[in-house]
Amino acid sequence: MSPDELAEPVGMLVGTATATALRSVDVHTVGDLLWHLPRRYARRGELTDLAGLQPGEQATVLARVESVDVRPMRQRRGSLMQVVVTDGSQRLQLTFFSLRGPQRRLAPGRVGLFAGTVEQYQRRRQLVHPEFVLLPDGSDADAVDDALRFAGDLIPVYPASSTISSWRVAKAVATVLGPLRDLPDPVPEQLRASRDLPGRLDALRAVHDPPDPATLAAAQARLRYEEAFVLQVELARRRRAAEALPATPRAGGTGRLLAAFDAARPFDLTEAQQRVGDAIAADLARPHPMHRLLHGDVGSGKTLVALRAMLAVVDAGGQAALLAPTEVLAVQHERSVRALLGPLADAGLLGGAEVATRVVLLTGSVTGTRRRQALAEIAAGTAGIVVGTHALLGEHVRFLDLGLVVVDEQHRFGVEQRAALAEREGQEHRPHVLVMTATPIPRTVAMTVFGDLDVSVLDELPPGRSPVRTHLVPVADKPHYLRRTWVRVREEVEAGHRAFVVCPRIGDAGEEPDPAAELRWWPGDDATPAQGGAHGAALPATGVLALADQLRAGPLDGVAVGLLHGRMSAEDKDEAMAAFVSGRTPVLVATTVVEVGVDVPEATVMVVVDAERFGVAQLHQLRGRVGRGRAPGVCLLVTTAPAGSPAAARLAQVAATDDGFALAELDLEQRREGDLLGAAQTGRRSSLRLLSLRRDVGLISQAREDASALVEVDPGLDDHPELAAEVARMTGSRADYLERA
Ligand code: ADP
Ligand code: MG
Repeated sequence: MSPDELAEPVGMLVGTATATALRSVDVHTVGDLLWHLPRRYARRGELTDLAGLQPGEQATVLARVESVDVRPMRQRRGSLMQVVVTDGSQRLQLTFFSLRGPQRRLAPGRVGLFAGTVEQYQRRRQLVHPEFVLLPDGSDADAVDDALRFAGDLIPVYPASSTISSWRVAKAVATVLGPLRDLPDPVPEQLRASRDLPGRLDALRAVHDPPDPATLAAAQARLRYEEAFVLQVELARRRRAAEALPATPRAGGTGRLLAAFDAARPFDLTEAQQRVGDAIAADLARPHPMHRLLHGDVGSGKTLVALRAMLAVVDAGGQAALLAPTEVLAVQHERSVRALLGPLADAGLLGGAEVATRVVLLTGSVTGTRRRQALAEIAAGTAGIVVGTHALLGEHVRFLDLGLVVVDEQHRFGVEQRAALAEREGQEHRPHVLVMTATPIPRTVAMTVFGDLDVSVLDELPPGRSPVRTHLVPVADKPHYLRRTWVRVREEVEAGHRAFVVCPRIGDAGEEPDPAAELRWWPGDDATPAQGGAHGAALPATGVLALADQLRAGPLDGVAVGLLHGRMSAEDKDEAMAAFVSGRTPVLVATTVVEVGVDVPEATVMVVVDAERFGVAQLHQLRGRVGRGRAPGVCLLVTTAPAGSPAAARLAQVAATDDGFALAELDLEQRREGDLLGAAQTGRRSSLRLLSLRRDVGLISQAREDASALVEVDPGLDDHPELAAEVARMTGSRADYLERA
């Protein structure tokens, strides 16, 4: 079968009725169908545990008929058939409002697959008119009519929908897969042999109709490897293409600015900062552009590393740009870069150092004369360091000689934006690029989502940090904790400190989260995990606007309370931030726009309202905003999640560790668990279809090695047309995924 045939509508092979039904599970082409893989496998002889069924869920269960009861209906004519099926301990009722149809064959002792929407009826869970298919028991002549023969011990269970049952999917797959004789295989023969992987067609057959567990496992591993391999080939090609580009080496400058800065610096570099600094210096010295990702926990000192790289570039005669995802952050960066540089940032000014450069801010709200002046300095090259938002990507911004672009908090920038920066028109030589993220990145994420970059990590915090203490405020169990929370905020404010109060949304319930605050971490990531708590009356308002009003009128009466959220204009945001920094409004009620990188040394309290709506990594980010000065910080996680619930357990884990890497791994794990649960039947598709960023770390790094080696030898993929076709297909359909990364 050719790639073209795989792209054909599935209706040609399975008929229009089935094709229509398949659309509900997002299967349109022959290829879609072949890669519509079973969600799980029921084992013959092992009945589905019925305990976990939730009302509303689309369930497919393997169960044994325990009893069949038929009686006339009270209200109308006809009979009601009630069948009880069991997994050996739990029971589920099946209700049919008619006796006619295949349900006549349901008899005690028979085992079958039953599918339908779980309903709660008089404290019992039931399926009304479920679809079902009975497993043959040897004596049943009708067995042959069953949709499937279930030859193996492992029965595939596909993501179901209310319009198509698992076994109809299985039948459609069998129709297509049965006569298939060949399938293009993107994994080269040689690799298959060396990695001991089955062929693609064999693997697909085995996952759709597994002969035995070992064959199934090998087939699954092979398909996961394929996914990883194709992705890594694309990433290897991107790295290679970037490698081949020309860049101006930025080394061997006078070194005076960097030396002056290092001499004046009031503290030593951490070993990690030194190590990463050396790696960057080596990159900058090469005639090809650097593409490096720097990640590290909150407070690990990334800004300093970036600044030293920028100074090196300025010393070598170039300019450096520092890009932030928001105005708030850009303004703050400019301020802190100036503060770190002191007189070194005041070239040409009275009191400026002899060796000095100039720092310029350019954001959307820098307008009029200030803007013209900034643009002029950028064009003339007198501005050595330019700080801004992506307004800096604008076509009209011309640098005299842009040598380095630092992108802070990379996860808000897409690959495409990164590319736009690096490919500035009219610039023959590419700038070096350093991207930074404060979210520690698990290795698999680094290899996939950021796989086109070299990766460095700051895995050490500067000495003398006092960890932020984190406490839960479970409003359902201990409402007085909430009162204590606001008292604590008031006390801190009275001691001259500042407090953040973070809410999941701007307005109140029902509204979308703040779009500006949205944090996408990797494909399929949602800013707020689904398991929200029950919203009892005890919870304070969860929107910025209402909560600020509540606090002003009640517990924080007499304290100036400011607001910050994504619907405010850039000017208002700056103003709000400035008022907070200066202490005019020592309490800031905000959405997660404050999450990333905001540095206010006087801030000592972080209250997170409705904390269970945030992921663990995000909570860690948030609390990283406090305790950055001399006074220790405290983080209070206000939650309605009842004690003992998974959400409460998650929050307890955040409270128990301040290791961002551990939490990042945990986050990954929980997202995956979440996926598996949701997977039960919702069929949400993440961009990585088979790979688990948690489980497949070994497999992904193997695939990365293999892909790099192959691309080294055959960068154009000329000798691997089937692989080339698959890479093209993936980049076409995943452009979206790469952009969102
Ligand atoms: P992040 O990695 O979260 O961006 P920052 O760069 O904002 O961290 O650094 C956090 C704080 O630590 C800043 O106030 C910075 O000046 C300070 N800092 C950075 N490096 C060191 C160091 N080696 N020793 C002491 N303090 C440092
Ligand atoms: Mg930072």
